[in-house]
Amino acid sequence: MSSCAIQHGAVIVKHGEILGEDVNQAFGESGGLHAEIGAIHDALKRCGGKKKKLYGARIICAGIRKSTGRFVETSRPCECLGSRKNIAGIPCMKKIREVGISEIEYVTKTGDWFIEKVEKVEKV
Ligand SMILES: [Zn+2]
Repeated sequence: MSSCAIQHGAVIVKHGEILGEDVNQAFGESGGLHAEIGAIHDALKRCGGKKKKLYGARIICAGIRKSTGRFVETSRPCECLGSRKNIAGIPCMKKIREVGISEIEYVTKTGDWFIEKVEKVEKV
């Protein structure tokens, strides 16, 4: 469980198997690591650093506001850091492309889920 006002979680799946998962971290505690980056780190750790394992995987993201229990505006992984700094220093979508994850799935505040193909997935 995240200690943040927004509880954001990310799970990476491939062929029905969970490869990695994490929640967002508060900036003060651990540098504000985004859930997506944490989940990628977790997946790489679990598979002994073999990036190929993540190629073609899907990352599923959802965030709720702790105070209301409602979904946030959008849980789509960030494209640019802006004010949403994280200790990894790169936007989640850049990291997602780097490791070859090919689909993102995320929820919006209406509770609708979207699946997008990741463009410009980098060859691993
Ligand atoms: Zn992010």
